[in-house]
Amino acid sequence: STQQGRAAMKICMIGTGYVGLVVGACLAEMGHEVICVDNNPAKISALLNGQLPIYEPGLERLVERNVLESRLSFSLDISESVAQSQFIFIAVGTPPAEDGSADLTYVMKAVEQIGASIRDYAIVITKSTVPIGSSERIRGIIEKQLKNRGLTDLEFDIVSNPEFLREGAAVNDFLNPNRIVVGSSNPRALAYMEKLYLPLTSKGFPIVHMDIASAELAKYASNAMLATRISFMNEMAGICEAVGADIERVRQGMELDHRIGSYFLSAGVGYGGSCFPKDVRAIIQSATERNIPTHILEAVDKVNHKQKKKLFEMVVGHFGEDLKGLRLAVWGLSFKPETDDIREAPSIETIEQLRKRGVQIQVHDPVALQNAYQALGEENITYFTGLYQALMDADALLIFTEWKQYRSADLGRIKSLLKQPVLFDGRNLFNPYMMKEEGFVYQSIGRMK
Ligand code: NAD
Repeated sequence: STQQGRAAMKICMIGTGYVGLVVGACLAEMGHEVICVDNNPAKISALLNGQLPIYEPGLERLVERNVLESRLSFSLDISESVAQSQFIFIAVGTPPAEDGSADLTYVMKAVEQIGASIRDYAIVITKSTVPIGSSERIRGIIEKQLKNRGLTDLEFDIVSNPEFLREGAAVNDFLNPNRIVVGSSNPRALAYMEKLYLPLTSKGFPIVHMDIASAELAKYASNAMLATRISFMNEMAGICEAVGADIERVRQGMELDHRIGSYFLSAGVGYGGSCFPKDVRAIIQSATERNIPTHILEAVDKVNHKQKKKLFEMVVGHFGEDLKGLRLAVWGLSFKPETDDIREAPSIETIEQLRKRGVQIQVHDPVALQNAYQALGEENITYFTGLYQALMDADALLIFTEWKQYRSADLGRIKSLLKQPVLFDGRNLFNPYMMKEEGFVYQSIGRMK
C-alpha cells in the first residue's frame, strides 16, 4: 500500500539490475517518486515497453502498478535524472576483478556522472556492495568535480546503505527487511534516510545507524557468515560420507539448537550467484591489502571450490575417466531456485567441464534457459523447456538447483526415460533409501551411496 499524505521524495536509481530494479520499484511502492536509469539501452527500452529484463517473483506486477500510478519511470538519461533527484542511489554491478577485489569501474563511472550533474543538495547512496573505503573515495571524486564546475558551495552527503535482499524473494525481502543498515558521518543525511524509510520503520522494521566503514563491512560480514555456514556444512558432509553418517540427520540434530538456528545449514554443490563468491573473495582481498590474515574466509572459499566439483566427480566415479559419447541430463541451471541468475552457478562450471570431455548435455531450467544459452552457446548442449524431455536417452540425470518441480518429480517417469537409472543429486532432494527401492543408482551429498 502506498503512503498517501507524505511528501514524495525524489529518487534516482542508477543501475536497473537485480538490485536496482527491485529497490526502485519498492521505493515507488512506498510512495516515493523514482526514476530508474541504466546505461544499457536494451534494458531501458524493454522496461519502457513493460517488459522486465530479469525474472523475479512479484516484480512485474509491482513495476506495472507503480508505472501506472506515475511513481516509477525509466530513463537512459542519467544526467537529467540525477539533476532532478535528491536521493541518488548507486546500484550498478561490482563484479570480481582478476585479483578477487571488487571491480569499481561501473561505480566510479556512475559517480562521475553524478558529480557532473547534481544541481542542489543531494544524498549519494551506495546500494552496490563496495569495499571498505569506497564511499569516502566517492565523496572525494564528487568534491573534485563540484570544484571543477565552480560549485564548491553545493552540499551533498554520502551514505552507505547496503542491500540484503535475496534474489528469488527480493521484493518481499526489501519490503519486510530484517534490518535496514545506514552508514553516514552526517546527522543530516541520517535524518533524511530515516524519512525515506519511514514507510518501513513505521511498520516496525528496524533501522540501524553506524559510520560508513561499519556499514560497508556489515554487508560483507553478513554474506561471509552465510557462506561460512554453507562451507562448514559441506565440510561436515564430506566427513559424513567418510564415516557413514547422514548430513541431513546431522543437520536436524543441530538446527533445533537456538544458538545455531536452521538457516543456511544445507549441504550441496556449493554456493554460487553474484554475491557470496565475489564478496568472500573481495573481503579477503581487502584484508590482505592491509596485512590482515583471513584464515576462515580463505577456507570458506577453498571448500566451496572443491564442493562445486562434486557432481563432476560423481560422473567420473561412476562412468570412468573417458566420458566421450556420454549423454547427460541436467536439471537446474540457476544458482538457486526462483531466479534466472546463473552467475557463478555450479551447474555452468560443471557443464563446461563435461562438454570439454565430449559429453552431450540436455538441460532444463524453468526460467534460466535463456541466460544459460547466452553463457554456454550450442556446443554439445540441447536446451529443453520440458523437464522430462531433457531426460530422453540420457545416461544419467544431474540435479543442481532445488526447484520445487524437481522435488515433486515422478520417479517412475524419470527412470523410464533415462537410458540408465542413474541420478546424481546435488541438492539432496530425495530419500536415498526410497531411491534404492525404486531401483536407482543414487548419489547425493553427505549421505549413503
Ligand atoms: P546487475 O548486473 O544485475 O545490475 C547492474 C546494472 O547496472 C546493469 O543493468 C548495468 O547495465 C547497470 N550499469 C552499470 N554501469 C552503469 C552506469 N554507469 N550507469 C547506469 N547503469 C549502469 O547487478 P545486481 O545483481 O543488481 O548487483 C548490483 C550491486 O548490488 C552489486 O554491487 C551487488 O554486489 C549488490 N547486491 C546484489 C544482490 C543480489 O542479490 N543480486 C544483493 C545485494 C547486493
